Amino acid sequence: MDKNQKVAVVVGSGIAGIASAVRLACKGYKVQVFEANSYIGGKLSLLQLGDYRFDAGPSLFTMPEYVEELFKLAGKNPTDYFEYERCATACHYFYNDGTFLPFYADNQKLKETVESVLNVSAEPMFEHLKRSEFIYKRTKRTFLEQSLHRFKNYISTDILKTVVAIPKLQLFTTMHKANERRLNHPKLVQLFNRYATYNGSNPYKAPGILTIIPHLEHGIGTFFPKKGMHSITTSLVKLAEELGVTFHVSSKVTEIVEDGTVVKGVKVNDAFVEADVVVCNSDIKPAYKHLLKNTKAKKKTLAQEPSSSAMIFYWGIKKSFSNLDLHNIFFTDDYEAEFDALFSTKPISSDPTVYVHISSKYVKADAPEGKENWFVMVNVPSNAGQDWESIRTTIRQDVIEKLSKALNEDIESLIEVEDYLDPIRIEQRTSSFAGALYGASSNDRMAAFFRHPNFSKVRGLYFVGGSVHPGGGIPLCLLSAKIACSEIKQA
Ligand SMILES: Cc1cc2nc3c(=O)[nH]c(=O)nc-3n(C[C@H](O)[C@H](O)[C@H](O)COP(=O)(O)OP(=O)(O)OC[C@H]3O[C@@H](n4cnc5c(N)ncnc54)[C@H](O)[C@@H]3O)c2cc1C
Repeated sequence: MDKNQKVAVVVGSGIAGIASAVRLACKGYKVQVFEANSYIGGKLSLLQLGDYRFDAGPSLFTMPEYVEELFKLAGKNPTDYFEYERCATACHYFYNDGTFLPFYADNQKLKETVESVLNVSAEPMFEHLKRSEFIYKRTKRTFLEQSLHRFKNYISTDILKTVVAIPKLQLFTTMHKANERRLNHPKLVQLFNRYATYNGSNPYKAPGILTIIPHLEHGIGTFFPKKGMHSITTSLVKLAEELGVTFHVSSKVTEIVEDGTVVKGVKVNDAFVEADVVVCNSDIKPAYKHLLKNTKAKKKTLAQEPSSSAMIFYWGIKKSFSNLDLHNIFFTDDYEAEFDALFSTKPISSDPTVYVHISSKYVKADAPEGKENWFVMVNVPSNAGQDWESIRTTIRQDVIEKLSKALNEDIESLIEVEDYLDPIRIEQRTSSFAGALYGASSNDRMAAFFRHPNFSKVRGLYFVGGSVHPGGGIPLCLLSAKIACSEIKQA
């Protein structure tokens, strides 16, 4: 190693940590990633149960260009590392009254389906999607692709375009009201409200600007990696290692050493590792509470309401269902009460909305022939000391009853192997405060501005990942790494 080469340390190997490592290596840094777990990837990791393979966390893949961009930055051909395809159907929706609505990517097919199933014109929905595209185009540069916390970014034509568009951005209404006003069927309102869950928020409180999310899914598309979600992690780790990045697993960082002004390095298992740059991929709350001894965060940043969490059952199912797709939603009738309970201590509904993701529909090797790997998820509140064991038992029973009824099959008897994830395990395994899936919720109109920036007042210290700007979810985490690294000079 060149003795004069500058050193960067990344704390945590979530998707944003790995992306930062790639970017820093491309900038000429000697990069070391320290990961507390015995495996790499954080939430984007895998679970093997007998012959069944599961993606442990994320299942919906949007905006693959942010992954591809990292290979291109390193001068590589993305397809030599990572392949994916566009999904022909974003999701199969099942309503309690028996209505079945496959949401096709193809506009003509979708129009015919919506009109025949719901017996209304699909035009208002397509108009709504066009508005969603408009808001996305007007805001993506301002809110997603750059720092909201740098004065210089406010003097630009992009900001001007955003400001001019403010009356159309749905900032002063809720997502639910925007959907209700524009859509002509309650089932479509419910379907479009669902997009608030993509960043763990409540559509009855979150601002209408979140109506951009359906454009990401329908306008740009949903995709699936040919080797499953976990291949996003493995392909980027391969790239990083080729660029000289070293990954250390079972290596918890116990302190980010700084004097309140400049970062000096990190402590790993009590050994000091000197660094010119430290990128922290740990959740912002534990980072300030446990890792930083001489620097305090703004109270407002740390006081933000956590996003929702999830209860997940991984089930190996000894049967194949032809009416199920990669993504399937089984809706509840009372969506508003369900979201109310997600951000309070009210009891969780006995008829929850259930999401079933089956990657073996695309990746045959994920389950044995004629069988399926079910990732069954119910949104639950973040951890505030609830009795999760008893909640899990109840939810499991409710979900089995609901799916058995909807699919006309005794689901319990089909479960061959199983495991689960709950808010406690999510926090233990990824350090996410209270097990929140996406950092802070976007229930407050100002949430985007209160999120921690990707830089800090300590020179050389940067923050990336789902709990900081621009937010949670794979594409935004990748953008957090891009913004943070754009602040870091070439080595
Ligand atoms: C069940 C579930 C479903 C989801 N579904 C989707 C989806 O469909 N689509 C989507 O885009 N997103 C989804 N998400 C959100 C997405 O997974 C996250 O936003 C994203 O993966 C978070 O990445 P991150 O970079 O913030 O790091 P994380 O994945 O949170 O990882 C952080 C890593 O840092 C390590 N770490 C923390 N502190 C230390 C320390 N002190 N020392 C060393 N290591 C440390 C942790 O061990 C962990 O490995 C889902 C999340 C979950 C849990």
